[in-house]
Amino acid sequence: MSKAQPPPPALTQRYSGVPDRLAAIAQAAKDKLYSNKNVPESVPRRHDVRLPPDTTRDAFDKAITALRKDLGVEHVVLNDKPLVDGWYLEHPNTHDAFHVVDQEDLVCSAMAYPATTAEVQTIVRWANTYAIPIYPISMGRNVGYGGTAPRVPGSVVIDLGKRMNRILNIDGENASCVVEPGVSYFALYEEIQRRSLPLWIDCPDLGGGSVLGNAVDRGVGYTPMGDHFANHCGMEIVLPNGELLRTGMGALPGKDGADNPTWQSFQPAYGPYSDGIFSQSNFGIVCQMGFWLMRETGHQAYMITFPRDEDFPQIVEAIRPLAQNRILGNIPQLRHVAQELNVTGLPKSHWYAGTAPIPRDVIRKHASQLPCGDCSWVFYGTQYGDITSIKSQLDIIQDAFSKIEGAKFFLPKDLPDDHYIHSRALVCSGVPVLRELDWLNWVPNCAHLFFSPITPTRAADAQIVHDINVRLHKKYSFDLFPTLCVAGREMHYITNILYDRSNDDEKRRAAALMRELIATCAKEGYGEYRTHILFADQVAGTYNWNNNALMRFNETIKDALDPNGILAPGRNGIWPKKYRGKGWQILGDEVEKAIGGGTISPKL
Ligand code: ADP
Repeated sequence: MSKAQPPPPALTQRYSGVPDRLAAIAQAAKDKLYSNKNVPESVPRRHDVRLPPDTTRDAFDKAITALRKDLGVEHVVLNDKPLVDGWYLEHPNTHDAFHVVDQEDLVCSAMAYPATTAEVQTIVRWANTYAIPIYPISMGRNVGYGGTAPRVPGSVVIDLGKRMNRILNIDGENASCVVEPGVSYFALYEEIQRRSLPLWIDCPDLGGGSVLGNAVDRGVGYTPMGDHFANHCGMEIVLPNGELLRTGMGALPGKDGADNPTWQSFQPAYGPYSDGIFSQSNFGIVCQMGFWLMRETGHQAYMITFPRDEDFPQIVEAIRPLAQNRILGNIPQLRHVAQELNVTGLPKSHWYAGTAPIPRDVIRKHASQLPCGDCSWVFYGTQYGDITSIKSQLDIIQDAFSKIEGAKFFLPKDLPDDHYIHSRALVCSGVPVLRELDWLNWVPNCAHLFFSPITPTRAADAQIVHDINVRLHKKYSFDLFPTLCVAGREMHYITNILYDRSNDDEKRRAAALMRELIATCAKEGYGEYRTHILFADQVAGTYNWNNNALMRFNETIKDALDPNGILAPGRNGIWPKKYRGKGWQILGDEVEKAIGGGTISPKL
């Protein structure tokens, strides 16, 4: 038994901490994760501070001195200490904690901590003056997609969350809020409880992320308001030239200098709806963002299991009309039964002695001992409303799914207290939790990459994407953990590729698997909704209809807004003019080649 770890930070002490109600759970999760970790917490740095491209140490030092004069010495910190991967609640802002390439490769040169929007403007102007790339993060819990790592090594990370973490407004009547980048789902939820407001937030699987950062990266949650970007209303943005912009109704000044009273009520306002270009892009730094909240309501979680792997197309066909008719109350998840094994938090070695993917019959044997029983697919849904309305919704749902022979229906009361459904029931009623961290005990030093293609909610399409995943996970020898997040006409088919951070062979295979998944799905017409920064160029390159019209459009905007190319160059594959055609794109097998001693960039 490994010893207990020092307690995770509490929300009362630190903006990024965990609420008291979850302290014991967080401690247990941390102890478990560290007991499955055998790499040292940190190793001595092999390299000095990673300088921004084309910048001498002397020029860099001068620039840092100037920035420290503006922000205060303690608010600009050099990234020259040993790198610590930490864990979810104590994550680094220096690099990608789930590094795929060398830990020291995708690092920033320094971290800057602005306290106000005016200071963000100051940093942006400074970056233009000194030609130093900057990379904004909110809380940096974007694990599986690059974490806090800047795409261009040596960039200065603007860690917005540390000092800009106020809930600026919660409007109980309008059911909306305005937050700064450092407000986590935990913090927003706790504040709503403190004020006893009958409102729900919508949170992703883990509650420690930034409400604003997740929405900007177009993350999803699981209540009826699970599409986070679709449920935002109004943004305040610092543009790459330092100018301040308010979108939506915020562009119309309120009376006597007040915020516009409809800023959080009406999204598009007048003229082109510009908000979209500030999501998954490098066109601005979002310093405030409004969100709609959901009014508290009755809710009922449930689980349906299906017996055969081959039921998959029938399940998808049953889901479509239910989703399109809005019978399905939220963003339900369809998961393969393999996940029932790893959400227990037990390591793979508990279930299977080999290192190859767990054979189907071994999964079957263990599943038959679990509450789900021997099944193939597991559907987690939640219905909302009053008791009568929920009952009639459940009748329709049960009726639709019972056409699939052997489908079994469970309510939380039918399942043991430690079953995963109880955590889903919380998430699906807007209560942020930590349960999903249990995944990360699967292999020692576990890290993960997400592969996240979009498929229409149609059996023929979903089957193609699934078959590609089955085939390629087998080829590269990884367990397949698909979760389909159902949002009406489409499903986010998300697979979690789990690898050991200390094992170069696993990392190489994981990277090769990602690359082949992206390419193979694209050939069939399926693309990702989001990806890790190392694969951003490849994914962006698949959206190439009409001679890359979309990327040329993005580049036109980028060059107009950011002529010096200082803001997050390369994010989502959008490179400013200064960088284009100079070897910055990561394509082909460059990631695999960089693993185990190589370097991903710069290749100048
Ligand atoms: P979370 O902690 O919710 O996962 P992050 O802070 O990691 O969110 O943000 C995810 C990504 O979105 C970041 O890597 C960054 O590229 C982008 N991003 C986050 N916050 C902002 C912001 N305020 N302005 C512009 N881009 C942002």
